[in-house]
Amino acid sequence: MIFWMILFQAREAYYSGKPLIVDDMFDRVEMKLRWYGSKSVVKYPRCSIRRQSTYSDAEDDLSQVFALASIWILIFAFGSSICLVPIICTIGLAYQDTLGPATSIGSQANVLTFLASVNGILFTVLGSIIGYPVASSSVRVLQGLWRKDLVALKGACPNCGEEVFAFVKSDQPNNSPHRADCHVCESLLEFRTKVEQSNSRLGRQWVYGRIYLLSRRGRNRYQR
Ligand SMILES: [Zn+2]
Repeated sequence: MIFWMILFQAREAYYSGKPLIVDDMFDRVEMKLRWYGSKSVVKYPRCSIRRQSTYSDAEDDLSQVFALASIWILIFAFGSSICLVPIICTIGLAYQDTLGPATSIGSQANVLTFLASVNGILFTVLGSIIGYPVASSSVRVLQGLWRKDLVALKGACPNCGEEVFAFVKSDQPNNSPHRADCHVCESLLEFRTKVEQSNSRLGRQWVYGRIYLLSRRGRNRYQR
């Protein structure tokens, strides 16, 4: 509860232009509140005096992550079926051949069964060449989603306030942040993530982000 008081005092002073506590401290108090899941943490776009920037908060968008995960699960199912179906068919054909060898007497029948087995092997090889990379890459993406290496960030555009979202790699250092245009006002936005290690949630990381408004050096101001 002491966080509340600090935050409200600091916020008053901060927005009146006389910072009571430095930006970092303000950020840390906000982080703590967000960590405890408080709804009092500001969500609207605001300015940082020190960084001379406008930014808004972004949060982990689980629905987007689930949507992406389900697509990758489908891709994984597709890849593994390409891998497995020819193998199962070949085994099935071989099993049928061993069951009824009496029916395939004659050189023509032998050639046909030989061709069928060559076909089966070809499909198996092709299937594993195409299917295995597809399946393994989808497994890697799903693992990344679980570990939160790739997160969906959702927040308000600092310029127009519309909801924007992006998939951001959180394992990258902050020197290569994700940039995207707002789909409404077309201003250039930069998504930055902060990763907190949590011990409680099965080694998963806790991610929160910020959306910064980048100036295009006044180009857009005269274009519209
Ligand atoms: Zn916008």
